[in-house]
Amino acid sequence: QAKTAGKGRFAFFSHELNQLALERQEMEVELQKSIVNNELALHYQPQMCMKTGRLYGLEALARWSHPKFGAVSPGRFIPLAEECGLIGDLSRWALKAACQQMAIWRNKGIDIPAVSVNLSPLNFHDTDLCRLIKAQLEENNLQPSDITLELTESVLLDATPSTMQTLHDIHSMGVRFSIDDFGTGYSSLSYLRKIPIKELKLDSSFVFELEHDGTSQSLSKAVLQIGESLNLDVVAEGIERQEQYAILKKQGYHVAQGYLFSKPLNAVEIERWVIDAQTKMVPSST
Ligand code: C2E
Ligand code: MG
Ligand code: MG
Ligand code: MG
Repeated sequence: QAKTAGKGRFAFFSHELNQLALERQEMEVELQKSIVNNELALHYQPQMCMKTGRLYGLEALARWSHPKFGAVSPGRFIPLAEECGLIGDLSRWALKAACQQMAIWRNKGIDIPAVSVNLSPLNFHDTDLCRLIKAQLEENNLQPSDITLELTESVLLDATPSTMQTLHDIHSMGVRFSIDDFGTGYSSLSYLRKIPIKELKLDSSFVFELEHDGTSQSLSKAVLQIGESLNLDVVAEGIERQEQYAILKKQGYHVAQGYLFSKPLNAVEIERWVIDAQTKMVPSST
C-alpha cells in the first residue's frame, strides 16, 4: 500500500513539474515573440546629482507585460532570456530602444545627460556588440557619452580575452561603463585596473537598512572611498527614505537613485517628470 501511495505522490509531483516545464516553455516562446514584435517597453528611472540637484542620467529598465502572464518582473524574464538564448536579442532591442528614445528627447530639446542600459554578462560573448552600439549611435545621431553600459562584476571575473577585447573596443569608441550591484559580487578588486570604468553603483542591499545598521554605513563609506580613489562617480541605488539620502549625502555620495525621487516611469511620464524637475530648479527670475 505504501508503494502505491509513493507511486501516486511521484505521479503527482511529476505532473506538477511537467506543468512548470510547460509554462516555462510557453513563456520562452512568448518572450521571443514579444521581443520580435517590439512588445517590451523600457521604463526610465532618474539618477540625481547630489551636489547640484540636477539630473545626472536615467537608467533604462526593461518591462514585459503579457496578456496571459501579466506583468512579468525582470528578475524573472532576464534570467529566462539568459537561459534560453534570448538575451542577445533582448539586449539588442534594449540598446536600440534606448538610443531611439534619446534621439527623440534630443530632437525635442529635452536635456537628458545620459541613459544607462543594463547588459548581461553573456552579451559580452557577442563579438558583434561593439558594431551594434556604433551603428545605433550613428543612426540616432548620438555621442558615445550619451549612453552608459551597466555591467556586473561577473563580466570581469571570468573575462575571456575576447570579452576583454569587446570591452576595450567599446571603450575606445568612447562609451563608458558602470559597475552595477557593486559590493555583492566578488572580493577581487583587481579587475578595476583592467577595464576602464566611469562609475560604481553601490548595491541597494547596503542602502535598505542604512539608518539602522552601522555595518551598512561603514560599507557604503568604503565603497565611496574605493570609487573616489579611482576617480569614479559613485551612485547609490534603492534610496527610498530621506534618512538614507541624508546619510549618503553626508558621506559624500555623488549620485542618488531610488523611489525617493521616482519609480521607473515610461517614456512619456519620465519626460514630464524631467521637465517638471528642471522647471523647479530654474532660479526665480528677478
Ligand atoms: P538593477 O540594474 O540593479 O536595477 C535596479 C532595480 O532596483 C530595478 O528593478 C529598479 O526598479 C529597482 N529600484 C529602483 N529604485 C528602487 C527603490 O528605491 N527601492 C526598491 N526596492 N527598488 C528600487 P527592476 O526594474 O525590477 O530590475 C531588476 C533587475 O533586472 C535590474 O537590476 C537588472 O539587473 C535587470 N534588468 C532590468 N532591465 C534590464 C535590461 O534591459 N537588460 C538586462 N540585461 N537586465 C535588466
Ligand atoms: Mg542597473
Ligand atoms: Mg543588475
Ligand atoms: Mg543594481
